[in-house]
Amino acid sequence: MKMDGAENFYRQFHDRTFKYGERPLDPNVRLAITAEQSYLNSRPGQAAVIVASELLCRLSQKVSLAFADFEFDQTFSGPFHGSAHSCLIDRMQSVAPPGQFTAEPARSNDYIIHLGSQGDSWIAHGSDWNLYTGPSPSPLGKAQSANIFGSCLATISAIAQIFGHRLPGELKPTVANALSLESSATDQTDWLPPESYLGELWFVGCGSVGSAVAYFLALAGYKFDAVLFDKDPIELENLTRSPIFHFDHVGEPKVESVGRFFALFNINTKAEPRWLHESSLWAERPAGRPDLIISAANEHNVRFQIESQFPCPQIYGTTGKNWLSNVFRHIPPGPCSSCSFPPSKKETSCATGEVTDTQNPEKKVDAALPFLSFAAGLLAAAEISKLQLSNFPYSKDRGFFEPLGGKPLYSTDIKHRDSCVCADRHRNVHKSVLQGTRYEALCFTELAI
Ligand SMILES: [Zn+2]
Repeated sequence: MKMDGAENFYRQFHDRTFKYGERPLDPNVRLAITAEQSYLNSRPGQAAVIVASELLCRLSQKVSLAFADFEFDQTFSGPFHGSAHSCLIDRMQSVAPPGQFTAEPARSNDYIIHLGSQGDSWIAHGSDWNLYTGPSPSPLGKAQSANIFGSCLATISAIAQIFGHRLPGELKPTVANALSLESSATDQTDWLPPESYLGELWFVGCGSVGSAVAYFLALAGYKFDAVLFDKDPIELENLTRSPIFHFDHVGEPKVESVGRFFALFNINTKAEPRWLHESSLWAERPAGRPDLIISAANEHNVRFQIESQFPCPQIYGTTGKNWLSNVFRHIPPGPCSSCSFPPSKKETSCATGEVTDTQNPEKKVDAALPFLSFAAGLLAAAEISKLQLSNFPYSKDRGFFEPLGGKPLYSTDIKHRDSCVCADRHRNVHKSVLQGTRYEALCFTELAI
């Protein structure tokens, strides 16, 4: 792909941010990531640094890693090994070749993003499932586990706030919990450690949110078998909202990029560069497969395709208008995805923040901000990990992340919709289709209804 300089690159790179009605950050301000040393010595702190660099290179032309270099914890795999500086700079440059990404101490005119429990004028800190952003020091207790979800969401939440408030001098104190999806801390430490096996996961849609779910499952170190459905190729405009897509991947099918990322983690993957309704894998799916569907797609009546076929549990994220990310959980025979997204054009476009591409009115583009896609992917990956914990479920079926709201995390029930396709499903047929699947025991219980 030919590019006439950095300006043209960045105009196209930030296209979805413009379509969302926002401006990119000032290209002349360098963002510097600093971190508390004890945080960097922990797996959650290292994950926070990884996510900060992946996200900031998609928001700013200049990023400096202003913390001392370290070797990644050996529980990370895939591309995250060896020197953090060299790995993260290489990844940032692969996303945005014209960007200026360096590893050097912060300068006086840099804007500082500080990760850890204490330090600068404001901090982003995660401990187990809890997250805090605001003035130093953090009110959260010491981490009892190597769980990365609290620290990653703290980082994403802080970056959303600095984008929304245009690099503010301070952040107001905010606490939330990614296990219960509440805007307060808890001392629950149930978590699923790295290397745990999640079953056979079918990703229906590998765009921004689908690839973000994939990224956070792999970063958390989980093992699974994956089938990836998506016919779309990667465009330059897609790079900012996916933590996996790089500049060199432009033009290739999204499933190939995600599949190659999974291969780095030795995750067995079948890439299916087709829409779900065109796939024989889906049409000829035997009873007992898959264990979970990550339905991160909206096109081609895909929800009806899934819901009319006695589906297994589904978990996915969405991004919406007004600075919102959601995570959805559908455990049969509870309210389904078509209860949430009725097959009406108007409601679907409203819920997903789609807008019409003015160059091509037939084509709907999914406008969202980078940190909203990252958050939707992280929340869905975290929810998938909760399926195997003994006290599941920890929240209601639909979770909300609103980084600029007074309550960053909360959840609500999803209601059955009258005349939805799920009302006609024969229970005994559905139970027999789910027989032997990994999350069968969660279905057809009182909790699921
Ligand atoms: Zn339904």
